[in-house]
Amino acid sequence: MTQGRPLLNRRLAAFGTTIFAEMSALAVRTGSINLGQGFPDTDGPEEIREAAVRALRAGHGNQYPPGPGVPELRTAIAEHQRRHYALTYDPDSEVLVTAGATEAIAATLLALVEPGDEVIALEPYYDSYAACVAMAGGTRVPVTLRPDGGAFRLDLDELRAAVTPRTRLILLNTPHNPTGTVLTREELTEIATLARERDLLVVTDEVYEHLVFEGEHIPLASFPGMRERTVTISSAGKTFSFTGWKIGWITASPDLVNAVKAAKQFLTYVSGGPLQYAVAEALRLPDSYFEDFRTTLHRKRDLLADGLRTAGFEVYQPQGTYFITTDITPFGERDAYTFCRNLPERCGVVAVPNSVFYDDREAGRSQVRFTFCKRDEVLHEAASRLRRLAG
Ligand code: PMP
Ligand code: GLN
Repeated sequence: MTQGRPLLNRRLAAFGTTIFAEMSALAVRTGSINLGQGFPDTDGPEEIREAAVRALRAGHGNQYPPGPGVPELRTAIAEHQRRHYALTYDPDSEVLVTAGATEAIAATLLALVEPGDEVIALEPYYDSYAACVAMAGGTRVPVTLRPDGGAFRLDLDELRAAVTPRTRLILLNTPHNPTGTVLTREELTEIATLARERDLLVVTDEVYEHLVFEGEHIPLASFPGMRERTVTISSAGKTFSFTGWKIGWITASPDLVNAVKAAKQFLTYVSGGPLQYAVAEALRLPDSYFEDFRTTLHRKRDLLADGLRTAGFEVYQPQGTYFITTDITPFGERDAYTFCRNLPERCGVVAVPNSVFYDDREAGRSQVRFTFCKRDEVLHEAASRLRRLAG
């Protein structure tokens, strides 16, 4: 306290430490298997690591790279959008490199939201969405995904009803963290219609675009009339298993890119110079890289889902991402946060309580998320430890 008031301002006071940091610290403290925070326990392709070393040694990017990102990476991002989705973006005016998707989200919301604007986000929401909406002075309006036939689904009527004259934008995430929901073509068509009818911007977080096991990933920007009102966000962290590199990007129309750049230049200005060159190479890896990555994670999903079911959890089958949301009510327990605090002591495993991703805490009170982006032996060992819960 100084001058009789708390140090942290009101916009951030509610947020505390992110659940990922809290649970990873708990894993380290207790020597538990960490299936909480979503980061792989093996690095991405060796040749991409080597590309980063080469760039460092060659002096590529060791001084401030250009504000929008190095041209090699912007070109590779544009090529990636064309190759995978037939979307064309001009690397010079329609691509912006950021410090991970996290900065892309922050800069986009700080740029587009006026104090008092409403931002619709799917609940449970990734924790930085709520914090960034708050930092921008906006009001978040959650639309809750609900379990339906073993997986989480979006209620389009609820989404429609959430739009008011104050709604500025819809913040979408597909494939969705933490539920693993992949929005279908029909759902995205409806969302696009709504955005056009109500003249809304849409920000889509597509960091798990290459991790879809059922269905397909369709960028919202590919729907009629959406390219000019959509900011598409992605990142190298998940797709190439280098979460520590923090290279992300947006693709959008020149006006939107300029707006986001206006905020981004005062956040980090630039970041990750040499790594940007390596990510440019990563984006150009052959189709077989993306297929193998998906197949491997698909198999790991099935491995962990089986393990969780055998241990007694109710499992909501994810169609994408590297997370599985479960329910702990079969154990006669109701509170995910308490469950996760005690899990290391009970069986040496760490997970994340989904309840913290909800405004409607009751809706997510008994949900717990596990990640499966770990080596098979780690997943087997975790599954075997979790079986102790039933006993
Ligand atoms: N969005 C979602 C949905 C995420 O799960 C994450 C975590 N990787 C991010 C954004 C942040 O990505 P990055 O690490 O590239 O900042
Ligand atoms: N995206 C990761 C997850 O959902 C965590 C990233 C972070 O710690 N900010 O687990």
